[in-house]
Amino acid sequence: MYMRINGAEVPSASAGWRDVLNPATGEVIDTIPDGTSEDVSVAVDSAESAFLKWSEKTMRERGALLFRAATMVRDDHKRLARLLTMEQGKPLREAIDEVRGFCNILEFYAGLSSQPAGDAVRLNSQGDCMVMNRPLGVCGAVIPWNMPVLIMGWKTAPALLAGNTMVLKPSSTAPLTVLSLSKTLEDAGIPHGVLNIVTGRGGSAGEAIITHPSIQKVSFTGSCATGCRIRELAGSRNKDLLLELGGSDPMIVMNDADVPKAVEGALRGRFYNAGQVCTAVKRLFVHQDIAESFISQLKVRVESLHVGNGLDPQVEMGPLNNRQQYDTLSGIMKSVKENAEGTILTGGSPLTGEGYDNGYFFEPTLVGDVAEDSSLLTGEIFGPVLPVVVFPDLDTAISQANRSPYGLGASVWTSDLATVKQVFQDVHAGIVWVNRHVTVPPEIPFGGTKESGTGRENGYRALEGYTRTKTLFLGW
Ligand code: NAD
Repeated sequence: MYMRINGAEVPSASAGWRDVLNPATGEVIDTIPDGTSEDVSVAVDSAESAFLKWSEKTMRERGALLFRAATMVRDDHKRLARLLTMEQGKPLREAIDEVRGFCNILEFYAGLSSQPAGDAVRLNSQGDCMVMNRPLGVCGAVIPWNMPVLIMGWKTAPALLAGNTMVLKPSSTAPLTVLSLSKTLEDAGIPHGVLNIVTGRGGSAGEAIITHPSIQKVSFTGSCATGCRIRELAGSRNKDLLLELGGSDPMIVMNDADVPKAVEGALRGRFYNAGQVCTAVKRLFVHQDIAESFISQLKVRVESLHVGNGLDPQVEMGPLNNRQQYDTLSGIMKSVKENAEGTILTGGSPLTGEGYDNGYFFEPTLVGDVAEDSSLLTGEIFGPVLPVVVFPDLDTAISQANRSPYGLGASVWTSDLATVKQVFQDVHAGIVWVNRHVTVPPEIPFGGTKESGTGRENGYRALEGYTRTKTLFLGW
């Protein structure tokens, strides 16, 4: 596939190409241009040229186009979901969820298009003010491979509705569905140049987006390490910045929890998308009164997961997305075993054998008796490995949960309101779920604290994040 700039399919000025692999089979499914800063400049020029006309449309007109795009994507969801599974690895039903989630995001923002884009302030004898929310101009977005479609929606829908144009770079290991969706958005009537997709490496195309002088705001989702680099680059150029970074969400299961429901919550929370979700359950804390029964029920469910190629309708967990991810997780588990950082309750190794040999498959894994300083508890494990910690009381669970440098999400499983109140008040997180984990519908603000980033996506507030107020003061 080509890049998409100003409504056209274009190769890179570098003339270089990169393979996109199917992580379940190792086969090359397509190639993408290895974009450079030159390509980014062309894309930014195109976004700048499109800005005036796009920003002069009414919000209602822009919303109508987003709504039409959502309808067209829904009509085409089977093809798009299949493409997403092939490049990303997730089971088809999860890919369908993700494509539908993208449509929900477009429709949610389209629904906000009749909101007033500003307000009036009366100052009596001094005069009156009109405070107008105006678009920023050209925005840059850089996104990861784990949920490329959903995250594309989180960034493009509010930015475009507010009247901005955008240059977006997908990850090189999951760029195809994003490219295909950008064409559908144009087919729905969004003018050429409003959304431009440049493929390429982070250090070249990615940094060129972050540093381009015409880019007003940078919205980034990815790892903390890249986030730090981007903070430096964008901060020193005084750009608006939204950073959605890593997480190591705790799930706290109290002794009054509905155990079967919490077992299913932990299973979905950790093994959905093979554990490659920023808000996955990455540390499980179970009250000692129910620990034995809870862990044995969870182990049965983990061992029953059907792992394989996501295109197979029976499959519940696919491969990891890429070689680097696979090698990192394999290395972490090797070190956990060698240094006796915990007891492997099930799994713990790459999956090999018939059907698995050419893909990046890893066993769904549970680890008990985890050492406090194990990277399973101190870092972000982006794969199907769940460390389980048994705790004696809520205060201990909260202090253990807060020992992480991250603060994205957290959940508590209980029937007691006082417990909910304490967890909500004291756990470091941008969102606290009760008897649930992971779900992030477009209506609610989403983002983290501590090393998990700054700023919020989703909800009506995100729309304001893609605007700048300008005030007209009328002194009568
Ligand atoms: P990554 O940081 O390696 O890459 C993300 C994107 O940044 C890719 O497009 C990459 O090409 C680009 N990039 C890399 N270096 C860059 C640079 N120097 N300048 C500009 N762009 C650069 O992350 P990943 O491995 O693709 O994704 C996994 C990470 O993303 C995990 O840490 C996960 O928790 C996080 N994540 C966070 C959220 C959230 O909303 N908080 C959502 C999904 C994923």
